[in-house]
Amino acid sequence: MFNPRQLILRLLGDYYKGAEDVAPTRLEQREFGFGNLDMKVAGRHIGFESEKKYREYLVTNAPAFVSCSQAFYRYPAARPMEKKEPTGAELVFDIDATDMNLDCQQVHGKKWVCSNCFDKTKQEVQKLVEDFLVPDFGFSEKEIEINFSGNRGYHLHIESEKVLQLDNFARRQVSEYIAGTGIDFEEFFPMVGVEGTRLKKLMGPKPTDKGWQGKIANNFLRALNTGVGTLMEFGMTKQEASQLFKKRALVEMGIRNGNWDMAYIKKKDEFWRKVMKAQSIMQSDKIDKNVTSDMTHLLRVPNTIHGETGLIAKKVGHKSALEKFNPMKEAIAFKKGEAKVSVTNSPELTINGKTFGPYSAEDAVLPMYAAVYLYLKGVATIKGYRIRSEK
Ligand SMILES: [Zn+2]
Repeated sequence: MFNPRQLILRLLGDYYKGAEDVAPTRLEQREFGFGNLDMKVAGRHIGFESEKKYREYLVTNAPAFVSCSQAFYRYPAARPMEKKEPTGAELVFDIDATDMNLDCQQVHGKKWVCSNCFDKTKQEVQKLVEDFLVPDFGFSEKEIEINFSGNRGYHLHIESEKVLQLDNFARRQVSEYIAGTGIDFEEFFPMVGVEGTRLKKLMGPKPTDKGWQGKIANNFLRALNTGVGTLMEFGMTKQEASQLFKKRALVEMGIRNGNWDMAYIKKKDEFWRKVMKAQSIMQSDKIDKNVTSDMTHLLRVPNTIHGETGLIAKKVGHKSALEKFNPMKEAIAFKKGEAKVSVTNSPELTINGKTFGPYSAEDAVLPMYAAVYLYLKGVATIKGYRIRSEK
């Protein structure tokens, strides 16, 4: 009887036979973990002495998930962890649509991904680079390598000398900073003046300020100039928002000089929290903060296949290349052949510029990449396939 798992193994093996650039930097110093179609990491504490050995492993075992440590070790295969002797670690960020509470997820569920999910995760990566990593942490765009996660988001890797020795505490501080954890708004808005008189002035951050102060001022001005609707999204009543919007030129002039007197805001706490939330970078509490702050974490190796989609965790490059990157086109691995599938239930799938479905309890003949995607997402079974020979 035909077993779809054997087809997946064959496709994975073929991919690794031909694929280039599937080895991470400093391969010999990393711990590897491999997964199958049941478990993302079925075995770890594996090391390789050469790229040749690593590639042989990939071709022979055709793993559905290939992960490696962001940490570098003297003895990557040693166990327990303490015996590995870390020598440093990349700084990594994980941006995933699942963590962003997008409206579209209410429609298609957390497991699925749509073009809106992809647009929003891309914007989040751009924000992380442009508003935090470059201005606040002083990295150059060239130091930040971006790759598609293979499913619903992106990973950012920084491997510069200055991050290698950061300990877990420092890494946690980085992720808390970008999430805006523990910001005290009172501190940003001191009341200056003489106690007991009415000559109090609300001073606050200027758009030219560094760090969070500048971001808050800029975000507020952006919201102010976008219109009443945006101000209301931040928790203002229609009346408050309209009043503020009417005198926006005056308000803006004040804020550019750090004078917030013109911007009278009633529910301050709620308002500022929402302004801040719009700026902060959401990494998931469960997994992704650990990605940044726990250097023993294993992460998908760039350019390997993601076993939940059959897509490549494709290297994108730097921020400038991200704009044009379309994961559902450029990360396709299995371009040859087609398969007959029985789909139980699937929303519309757009892949390789074509749209398939939505399906509900029906059979279809699909290009291999689309059939594999639906199968690995658990919404279809594969009944049979055909791969035309290359020549
Ligand atoms: Zn979506």
